[in-house]
Amino acid sequence: MQYLTILGSTGSIGVSTLDVVARNPQRFAVTALAARSRADVLFDQCRRFLPKYAVLLDADAAEGLQQRLRLAEIATEVLCGEQALERVAALPEVTTVVAAIVGIAGLRPALAAARSGKRILLANKEALVTAGAVFMSAVRDSGAELLPIDSEHNAIFQALPIFRDRSLADCGVRRILLTASGGPFRTLPIGQMARVTPEEAVAHPNWVMGRKISVDSATMMNKGLEVIEAHWLFAADPQMIEVVIHPQSVVHSLVEYCDGSVIAQLGNPDMRTPIAHALGHPERIASGADFLDLARVGNLSFEAPDLARFPCLRIAYDALRAGGTAVVALNAVNEIAVAEFLDHRIAFTDIPALIERVVAATPVRPVTSLDDVERADRQARVDALAACASWSVPKKAGRG
Ligand code: NAD
Ligand code: MG
Repeated sequence: MQYLTILGSTGSIGVSTLDVVARNPQRFAVTALAARSRADVLFDQCRRFLPKYAVLLDADAAEGLQQRLRLAEIATEVLCGEQALERVAALPEVTTVVAAIVGIAGLRPALAAARSGKRILLANKEALVTAGAVFMSAVRDSGAELLPIDSEHNAIFQALPIFRDRSLADCGVRRILLTASGGPFRTLPIGQMARVTPEEAVAHPNWVMGRKISVDSATMMNKGLEVIEAHWLFAADPQMIEVVIHPQSVVHSLVEYCDGSVIAQLGNPDMRTPIAHALGHPERIASGADFLDLARVGNLSFEAPDLARFPCLRIAYDALRAGGTAVVALNAVNEIAVAEFLDHRIAFTDIPALIERVVAATPVRPVTSLDDVERADRQARVDALAACASWSVPKKAGRG
């Protein structure tokens, strides 16, 4: 039996995780659920999965949820605040932590899980992108087990013969190929990119996801973050990691070996497949995803990414090569830029421009502690908001 804490249970990954859990009740019990808001969804999840703890960030919302649970005679104890997230990630009775909070907000609780030796199912790529060295050494020191849920990294994990014990070169790996759908604007005339709206940007052609990662997919910063994620997860040099556009999102990523073999993992674009893989590992369990009908898919196509259309990918590779504070700044400015775009304050094409400007102005320093990460993150956010305030774009950009 695995005892789960699900961080970000009300989000897209959290809901998919609980769907897989419900299909395999003999294997999993839910010990804690945590979210920022959406108390109604969390209440329904508590009623269904009867966790020992539920966490909401806001104290009033947590008190309201506790009252509703008491009235419904559900014994779940409601906690609040950021420290409660770390507490439920490190509970001694918990074996497995699903890290599915979005953004660097998920770093501290994910790190708490790593430091307490849990099996960590990682969706929250921003945690690994910003604090890769700190996170991976916490995993090693505590004997934690890190399993990727991000579909590309889960595919690579499945295509590698082993995960952590030997280097990629010792396994005969030549390249890691990350597939990318190209998002909703892959074929839009470049001249129209400045005028796309948040609604258009979050309408991903193949995946239903949270708003932030949907915008990241549209700019392809998501793939840039995933290159950095792959670097840390698989100890892969940047030049070993390549991106290939694959609009059907059926091949989830590939590993090329020195003998010319290329091993891929395929499946319908449904996050329940990588989630079920990581939950069940090393066994296989039902996910609820439809089985792949290749004859119906018909064609699988591939093309090189267009870096003029998607400058975020180039900016992310540059930040990875620079390392340290450059990567923390890349993530922080991206989080700010995406939020500003979603609020109609900057245009879609301002996202890479803002990131490039602020990251270029950030002094590159090594990052060796959580303090280093959080300091660099705070500074980059201040710089990004200052740059936004002086941004020379028309207000209400993105409204067409
Ligand atoms: P989402 O916006 O749908 O859900 C985010 C969850 O995190 C919610 O439960 C929200 O309440 C919680 N949350 C947000 N801020 C918080 C905070 N400060 N404290 C506590 N909880 C907080 O996002 P998502 O699409 O589920 O993505 C979650 C993570 O998984 C992201 O890092 C994303 O990049 C990654 N991921 C998502 C997908 C996908 O298909 N959705 C695929 C691969 C990776
Ligand atoms: Mg992905």
